[in-house]
Amino acid sequence: QTIGDFFDGMVQRQPERDALVCLHQNLRYSYAGLRAAAHQLASALLRQNLSPGDRVGIWSHNNAEWVLMQIATAKAGLVLVNINPAYRTSELEYALNKVDCKALVTMARFKTSDYLGMLRELAPELARCAPGQLQSERLPHLQTVVWIDSPGTGGNAAGDTHDEPGMLRFSELLARGDASDARVAEVGRTLKNTDPVNIQFTSGTTGFPKGATLTHRNILNNGFFIGECMRLGPQDKLCIPVPLYHCFGMVLGNLACFTHGSAIVYPGDGFDPLAVLSAVQAERCTGLHGVPTMFIAELDHPRFAEFDLSTLRTGIMSGSPCPIEVMKRVVRDMHLAEITIAYGMTETSPVSCQSSTDTPLDRRVATVGTVQPHLEVKIIDPESGATIPPGSPGELCVRGYSVMHGYWDDPQRTAEAIDAERWMHTGDMGTMDAEGYVNIVGRIKDMVIRGGENVYPREIEEFLYGHPQIQDVQVVGVPDQKYGEELCAWVVPKPGQVLTEEAVRDFCKGQIAHYKVPRYIRFVDAFPMTVTGKIQKFKIREQMAQQLG
Ligand code: ATP
Ligand code: MG
Repeated sequence: QTIGDFFDGMVQRQPERDALVCLHQNLRYSYAGLRAAAHQLASALLRQNLSPGDRVGIWSHNNAEWVLMQIATAKAGLVLVNINPAYRTSELEYALNKVDCKALVTMARFKTSDYLGMLRELAPELARCAPGQLQSERLPHLQTVVWIDSPGTGGNAAGDTHDEPGMLRFSELLARGDASDARVAEVGRTLKNTDPVNIQFTSGTTGFPKGATLTHRNILNNGFFIGECMRLGPQDKLCIPVPLYHCFGMVLGNLACFTHGSAIVYPGDGFDPLAVLSAVQAERCTGLHGVPTMFIAELDHPRFAEFDLSTLRTGIMSGSPCPIEVMKRVVRDMHLAEITIAYGMTETSPVSCQSSTDTPLDRRVATVGTVQPHLEVKIIDPESGATIPPGSPGELCVRGYSVMHGYWDDPQRTAEAIDAERWMHTGDMGTMDAEGYVNIVGRIKDMVIRGGENVYPREIEEFLYGHPQIQDVQVVGVPDQKYGEELCAWVVPKPGQVLTEEAVRDFCKGQIAHYKVPRYIRFVDAFPMTVTGKIQKFKIREQMAQQLG
């Protein structure tokens, strides 16, 4: 089955149920309503000189148009390319040209960012070309630019129907399609579930983002099994503050919901902890997703106690190491009794490990659970490739339906990541115990070797989280003449708290081995982050290297 087939099947079963609520746009769709709009959009895209297999980019924060594009491109056999709204001209140019996007859908603006302005900078030819007929020197494949004109999106006002030279309004594009166009069904019948449906760029946590090509089979199945782990059903409403341009929002959010007949709730277009808390209360959400930093921001919000979150039951914390303390707080203070941690990466569609709801709580907060159905995980010595006995750390490798088709147009990188036996080498260090519970100890690239001693920053971070005045902490290795590398901790103190280096060191004394006590301690307000909310340790390392000369 393809995503389109599966979605239509769900619509037949429960046409009237809520499928999508976009609070910032004041929009609501039932399953039948969403299907009709997506079908019409698929028809419009196919009439826009696009053919199955063509790439179509979306460069936007979360909104209803994003979801419509996700379903419509899948139905029309097009390949949706998720483009991070934080990208600026050079990154956009790279992404669009890397995969030869023929069309692009974007927001007009967001806060101070002028998306259409950035596009005009790259393609000044827009001013002279008819919509859909762009011929641009720097974006040679791009023909159609569509801007999202619905009120409430990126600051659009109601009744604002002006034209942008060379571009189409989203509503105009949609109007060119037909909700009963037979061509869409015709195309649907020719699609296979092994066809690419999506190109997702990785987060860029460790450097340059890579474009992973994912098929219907990859992400539809993964979304389904994620929803199974969460026991989602038609009575569930999942609040999704995580971005859609990343697999967390699009697969763990949208696809997990659509495969289980649940409703999706978007609290806003950028992340705002207050909007999340009010959305959960107003929509009586039963689930909530987030990266750890989002949950921390919600828990620590000064108005947290004002909100009724008692409808919450489940959710997923993922994307980066999930501190045990934070997990315990969300279970206790947010009623997320059944929350699980998921582990995955864009290249594996994404989730490989997740605990099920009936995993005992101590296991659920401290591990990433067990391997998902129909996938295999092994832990190897990254040097020799030999499988490592249970309990010892090594590189995690994944095999099965979820492993990406490959990096788009990059056979060399693909061959480096996926070996001849189809094992995906994740670059993450983990352990697996005798019962199959997996723990992530960190990225191979983040491991610090101090005087020949392997140190996993994660372990020290977990320890320092136990300090009553520390809100957040990151540990990295910095070059050192004597030891090769030294440990450095960046600490965010809790609001209103004053901490000293000495106090932090005293806290470590006698509790962790001397070589694990950070040599450098810096107090900061925040960490360098991707817009997904992932901390870019490589930037911390760069800044420290500069400071230390
Ligand atoms: P890039 O590959 O561009 O450097 P990235 O690896 O962050 O960026 P993603 O594919 O979005 O891009 O993230 C996957 C990575 O996130 C995993 O390889 C892992 O390091 C980390 N991760 C995901 N879930 C967890 C988790 N539950 N615990 C610890 N780390 C996690
Ligand atoms: Mg990665």
